[in-house]
Amino acid sequence: MFDINTIREDFPILKRKVHGKPLIYFDNGATSQTPTQVIDTIVDYYTNYNANIHRGVHTLSQEATDKYEEARIKIQKHFNAKHSYEIILTAGTTESVNIVASGFSSILKEGDEVIVSALEHHSNIVPWQMMCEKTGAVLKVIPMDDQGALQMDVFDQLLSNKTKLVFCNHVSNALGTINPIETIIHKAHKFGAYVLIDGAQACPHIKPDVQELDVDFYVASAHKMCGPTGVGILYGKQELLELLPPYQGGGEMIETVTFEKTTYAGLPHKFEAGTPNICGGIAFGAAVDYMNAIGFDIIQQRENELLAYATEALSQIEGLKIYGTAHKTSVISFNIEGIHPYDIGSILDKLGIAVRTGHHCAQPIMDYFKIPGTVRASLSFYNTTEEIDTLVAAVKKAKMMLS
Ligand SMILES: *Cc1c(COP(=O)(O)O)cnc(C)c1O
Repeated sequence: MFDINTIREDFPILKRKVHGKPLIYFDNGATSQTPTQVIDTIVDYYTNYNANIHRGVHTLSQEATDKYEEARIKIQKHFNAKHSYEIILTAGTTESVNIVASGFSSILKEGDEVIVSALEHHSNIVPWQMMCEKTGAVLKVIPMDDQGALQMDVFDQLLSNKTKLVFCNHVSNALGTINPIETIIHKAHKFGAYVLIDGAQACPHIKPDVQELDVDFYVASAHKMCGPTGVGILYGKQELLELLPPYQGGGEMIETVTFEKTTYAGLPHKFEAGTPNICGGIAFGAAVDYMNAIGFDIIQQRENELLAYATEALSQIEGLKIYGTAHKTSVISFNIEGIHPYDIGSILDKLGIAVRTGHHCAQPIMDYFKIPGTVRASLSFYNTTEEIDTLVAAVKKAKMMLS
């Protein structure tokens, strides 16, 4: 049973005020809020067993190691990876993407082709451009249409035996579009290309099954799914993680070191150089537990209701245009004719409402629509229809003040 009042009690921040008004948090696409269950896990770690992992014989170090590895297993189960060592704990999506892109920089050859979608976050464009510059591989783009959906017929034309890698987000952060990743993976595999899916924006709403998807790499950040900042995952199929060279040199990632030669540790440690975000990893496990206890079916149902309610209400406002109308998660990216998104965002903030304005790290999408940016309200299961009513009234007010 989903009881919104009980759920909201889990999020202490929802009780605070901003500019004297109750906080209404609609910036979940940038980072989600943190439930008490996760906050308590963080406090417990620093209060009771803060220690470095994997190297100490002492009790605290053992406890911290056990909890960290337990968290890895929770995350493995959540994503249904075959092995726990296929879950690399990283600093987040951006670092995960860079590990893969930098690894392929020593594998790709001139003339190889790499396909990315037009809906990508900058963190999924820049590393591939760098990789292509280094290797002489060619970057191709799957274009989008007016609805914010990918043009899959063009994808078919771009694929060839030269295609080595395909990158696409599971859900677009700027528009919320849910991309047909099953089809993308299936088609890319027919040409022997590997696929990396950026799940940063999908994981707050969808529970992906990496084995069923047969995806080669899947990346995500904890802080968008009720966890802390600075931690995330790189899932990779074992044989591919073994194929990629290590990303950073340092402690934890080596087996033996002499000045003549270093041999690398096995997975996952090969990609986890140095002291990791131990507390963050453990809290990520708590966040996964929290979301699964609610259940992703219920989360999705709730968010779809909120999305439909908000879309309907906002659409009534004259001059308001919503960008991205394809199959999507609970994200509404909009503009009001003749008004800069930043100005709307500033007025909403004065009224206690947190939204994001700007290009949302997805400049190519903004260029497509020929706009400087949008106002993005991204809803979470802990938001309410009353909050949406307040948003709609506030947008109307902003429109009156600015036009
Ligand atoms: C947030 C986001 C990223 C970047 O995540 P970080 O946690 O900042 O590394 C990448 N891709 C998408 C789709 C995102 O929404």
